[in-house]
Amino acid sequence: MKYKVALFDADGTLFDYDKAELEALQDTCESLQLECSINFIELYKKFNSGVWRDFESKKIDTQTLRWKRFQLLFDELKIDIDPKYVSTLYLDYLSQKSYLFDGAEELIKNLYQRIKMSIITNGISEVQRRRIGLSAINIFFDHIIISDEVGSPKPESMIFEKTLKFYKGIEKNNVIIIGDNLESDIKGGINFGIDTCWFNPNKIENDSGIEANFEISDIRECLEIID
Ligand SMILES: [Mg+2]
Repeated sequence: MKYKVALFDADGTLFDYDKAELEALQDTCESLQLECSINFIELYKKFNSGVWRDFESKKIDTQTLRWKRFQLLFDELKIDIDPKYVSTLYLDYLSQKSYLFDGAEELIKNLYQRIKMSIITNGISEVQRRRIGLSAINIFFDHIIISDEVGSPKPESMIFEKTLKFYKGIEKNNVIIIGDNLESDIKGGINFGIDTCWFNPNKIENDSGIEANFEISDIRECLEIID
């Protein structure tokens, strides 16, 4: 067996983040007696993507990221509520939303004891720890590596280096990363020098120039690659 360690991205790969995010926004709006309109959600997503880009290019830290997206949203919608308060409320709701994609639990249970596995995720520490901890697959992973805790997000090599430190004696060519994001998971894996598997459930066209070793549209296809 070529691979001895599989590194899984969390959101969009094993976990349904879109569902978690939507429900957390709805719960937040309900608490604040705000209308959770499509416009509200779309604008939140727009500002959220922007602050994550700023974080990944080191313009802001994760503390700022948390409230900044709500500040931008509330400025746009002329809502007068403290964004830091809303951020705390939202993150508490979000951290309770743990939804696995179809096939994810089956895959991880099948791989357990055949290969060592860790999760490597860009995200906020307490949110990711709690969400992953609530899932049925939590017990099958050796380590949960979170960008917020190691001070380095994918695609930077540092987060991969810190992950591999846990696996003494394992060579890079025995490691594969499986993830849905070409820019962070696949580019990060390629730059670090490990094999890559792009999970592309919606079969979108890849015009990024970033080429993974494998491409799958059903997460269960990992079994054939890893076996
Ligand atoms: Mg992802």
